[in-house]
Amino acid sequence: MKKCELYRCLPNVKTLLEDVELQSCIEEYGRDTVKETIQCELGKLRAEISQWKDGQETENDLEIRMKEKLPHLTDMVKERMKEKQRPNIRPVINGTGTILHTNLGRAPINEEHFKKIASVVCGYSNMEYDLDAGRRGERYSHFEELLCKLTGAEAAMAVNNNAASVLLILSALAKGGETVISHGELIEIGGKFRIPDVLEQSGSVLTAVGTTNKTRLEDYERAITENTNMILKVHTSNYKIVGFTESVKIGELAPLAAKYSIPLVEDMGSGAFVDLERFGLSHEPTVQESIAGGADLVCFSGDKLLGGPQAGIIVGKIKYIEVLKRHPLTRALRIDKFTVAALELVLREYLSKEKAVKNIPTLRMIGKTDDETVKDAKKLCRMLKAANLSIQVSLRPCCSQVGGGSLPQETIPSMAVAIRPEQISVTKLEEQMHHCSIPMFGRIVNDEILLDVRTMNSKDFKLVVSQFSDIL
Ligand SMILES: *Cc1c(COP(=O)(O)O)cnc(C)c1O
Repeated sequence: MKKCELYRCLPNVKTLLEDVELQSCIEEYGRDTVKETIQCELGKLRAEISQWKDGQETENDLEIRMKEKLPHLTDMVKERMKEKQRPNIRPVINGTGTILHTNLGRAPINEEHFKKIASVVCGYSNMEYDLDAGRRGERYSHFEELLCKLTGAEAAMAVNNNAASVLLILSALAKGGETVISHGELIEIGGKFRIPDVLEQSGSVLTAVGTTNKTRLEDYERAITENTNMILKVHTSNYKIVGFTESVKIGELAPLAAKYSIPLVEDMGSGAFVDLERFGLSHEPTVQESIAGGADLVCFSGDKLLGGPQAGIIVGKIKYIEVLKRHPLTRALRIDKFTVAALELVLREYLSKEKAVKNIPTLRMIGKTDDETVKDAKKLCRMLKAANLSIQVSLRPCCSQVGGGSLPQETIPSMAVAIRPEQISVTKLEEQMHHCSIPMFGRIVNDEILLDVRTMNSKDFKLVVSQFSDIL
């Protein structure tokens, strides 16, 4: 058959739409979507015919190839429809060992919490209704008292994320005047979020004091003028200057701020509630410490070390929180019911440190013991070996990281399963892992893929093995 005649062998769209095989598809996804998919699949076959050139194969071969494909056309359409229906955002398996992985959704939410959140968001709730008073309430009321109790602050609120907290605080309290900040704290947090830019955006003028490595109390005092509206401290959570350094603690700045009646604000970034020393990590300042030290306002992320939903939490003096709650930006940056519900649940866990460490996935992963990681790694190793795939599997000690710009220098000793493919390259294997139905992420080290079990759930091991079987 000639190339030009082959086009005529292709069924037309109308015939396919009437095909019994596709009727359930049409019912489920709608006629237009199915039609579009048919057109697309037929287009591919037409392109294949038109690209045929004399030489590589005979026209006869092309005909055979086409006739092999045609009976499967409806299956292909069905397959495409299924793919199209699959949500683009989906769960992945994190074997990178980075606990707060910004690209992989940062802090995971406890599943039990999520069930409770679902029951709130799937229907109506008392989101902004005060049941006791019988009138309109505040969305912050569900977690404000909890935050005050846990941090020792007078009042609290939350916005969309911590970048929003910083913007709101500066816009509401520092606009039209100067903000004093140490040179060493003019950081970029990531995603082009730079403290000097946020200051400019808020309408406050930056007065940088001290030097990159050393800033003293006198530096702050000398910079204060009648136009100073705020003293801002930013926790340099994502980098560390080591060696010849000096900075001024909140506790030392508080009397200075009080003397000149200027609000003292600390952006803590991660905002730990529990002391990480209990996990063998170095001390990360806690929110309680900052409030006790005399900060007027403290802001931090909901989905970093706190282990909750994305949010920017602000705690501190009632007179400042009142100003923030009334500011027009707050309406633009406000949190939704998902966040309100998730925040309340995660904060409740902190009423008992033991419960927090057990029930908040971020803390749970940071706190996994050597016994646990070794046991899990051995189990995954055994399961992969038993599947008899064309890979070499072994145990490797490795280092996990907290991530999310927290504790950049700290690593946590952990255990990984190392996978070395025998028939394909390690980069090819990694690419295939990313294209599984539940994509899998690891780290390539020395031509092996390391799957750090600290960030994995042993419940997923069966799935991991079956996906590797599919790839290989
Ligand atoms: C991460 C971080 C932010 C931004 O917080 P998001 O919740 O990611 O918006 C702001 N300041 C500091 C110091 C941070 O570490």
